[in-house]
Amino acid sequence: MLDANIKQQLKTYLQMLRHPIELVASLDHSDNANQIEGLLADIAECSDKVSVRLDGNHALRPSFGIAKAGEEARVRFAGLPMGHEFTSLLLGLLHVGGHPPKVDDKVIEQIKNLPKPAAGGQFETVVSLSCHNCPDVVQAFNTIAALNPNYSHTMIDGAWFQPLVDQRKVMAVPTVFAADQSQFGSGRMLLEEILAKLDTGAQAKQAEALSQKGEFDVLIVGGGPAGAAAAIYAARKGVKTGVLTERFGGQVLDTLGIENFISVKETEGPRLVAQLEQHVKTYDVDIMNLQRAKGLKTVDSRVEVELDNGAKLTSKTVILSTGARWRELNVPGEKEYKNKGVAYCPHCDGPLFKGKRVAVIGGGNSGVEAAIDLAGIVSHVTLIEFDTKLRADAVLQTKLNSLPNVNVVLNAQTTEVTGDGTKVNGLRLKDRTTGEINTVELEGVFVQIGLLPNTDWLKGSLELSRHGEIVVDARGQTSMEGVFAAGDCTTAPYKQIIIAMGEGANAALAAFDHLIRN
Ligand code: FAD
Repeated sequence: MLDANIKQQLKTYLQMLRHPIELVASLDHSDNANQIEGLLADIAECSDKVSVRLDGNHALRPSFGIAKAGEEARVRFAGLPMGHEFTSLLLGLLHVGGHPPKVDDKVIEQIKNLPKPAAGGQFETVVSLSCHNCPDVVQAFNTIAALNPNYSHTMIDGAWFQPLVDQRKVMAVPTVFAADQSQFGSGRMLLEEILAKLDTGAQAKQAEALSQKGEFDVLIVGGGPAGAAAAIYAARKGVKTGVLTERFGGQVLDTLGIENFISVKETEGPRLVAQLEQHVKTYDVDIMNLQRAKGLKTVDSRVEVELDNGAKLTSKTVILSTGARWRELNVPGEKEYKNKGVAYCPHCDGPLFKGKRVAVIGGGNSGVEAAIDLAGIVSHVTLIEFDTKLRADAVLQTKLNSLPNVNVVLNAQTTEVTGDGTKVNGLRLKDRTTGEINTVELEGVFVQIGLLPNTDWLKGSLELSRHGEIVVDARGQTSMEGVFAAGDCTTAPYKQIIIAMGEGANAALAAFDHLIRN
């Protein structure tokens, strides 16, 4: 099952086991069961601290669990954890075997003290082995299960358990189910996000701790590229700086390949976020992650930010960098094939489709601009509009009509993105007059039906454009005294990482200027 090279590496890793572990298989008569049996035998060959039992009685078959000798297995795999999940298997072996996970001591303490959920502590994550986001979720739950006997976790390979996938209506991976089979969450989740959800008492404690923080000089709301750049620029001025953010990293966390971050030829979103975090942390910046702002007002010439958990923070200046999110189609296949043919940013992902066939969905200015842009790179563009006419400016439509490799489909509703299991291979469109379903064969789909700024919570506090973007001047100043804004949440026209960072730096310098003049 495992080649000699992998076995050699496994041998080295398994020397870190601190106590014996048992691999307990629950098998049936399928080929998949044979593969699990082969894998477990290979692992056991690599360490005399690992033994195998084939008499497990778990309901999901074939599957296997990893148990500390003499205990029930709490880390389980219903599937063959190869591909992206091989690291999950390796870490599962080590952590159940007593090797401590690479997380902060405080986090380990928090996990050990987690209360048992009322519905029970058995969690299951449905994955696919080609999913990039699944291992993070599997590894986070496995860590919890390895450290806290109130919890167990099973990785379920959806390809092996199709009836379960159908019955639970799984539309995207990873999807996590709680013990009562209710959905706990879907998509990439970090360990700290999962802990915040599981540790119900932690919210109130956090709100209290946050409210005790003194006044900031610069408080940044939003920890994407704009917020990170603003934090570095502000902290380098020696002023008291904080970053309050729902999810440090922002949209970059959801981005696979980045090829236009100038001076770095090629990188991946999570790697860039880790570097951003490292850079911010070299300065004295108070990062308040997993916190959501819900209100902004001026109180006695200070700016007050209210959080979802009720805490209130005050600052002499605030920089808003809450970013934006692409509006989604919400049709079958869209989530499943995100980053596997379904894209939202033509500037970012267009070159990845060089010479291929793509569709652009949306006939407004951004859709038509995207189609014109892509037509210079790809072999063919199909522009799809729901309405009976395009809504883009006439000059753009004229340019579009002059291009030989573009065709426009009007009055069409996209009903499904289709694929071969690993990547997009087509679109299903419904003619809105006749109801006829047509199929377009292609390799890429660019969804261009709008970018929604994360500014709902600011309505009524400061000036927003008709698209909900924060109106800023050249210095990033908003309509509220002492409040600046940067990045995708503002009226700045182009939405890119490097632009958001530049604007973050700009807003921080403007905030500092405001501080020294007031
Ligand atoms: P965001 O990255 O959106 O960050 C906003 C931050 O604010 C997040 O941390 C969020 O959690 C937080 N936040 C939101 N609301 C609140 C609240 N109420 N309270 C507290 N915090 C809040 N650009 C490129 O240059 N190159 C690429 O290759 C590229 N590829 C992309 C691929 C994808 C799939 C996507 C979605 C975008 C891509 N982009 C790319 C665009 C780029 O990611 C954005 O332009 C950039 O991230 C904007 O940075 P930002 O800091 O303004 O906002």
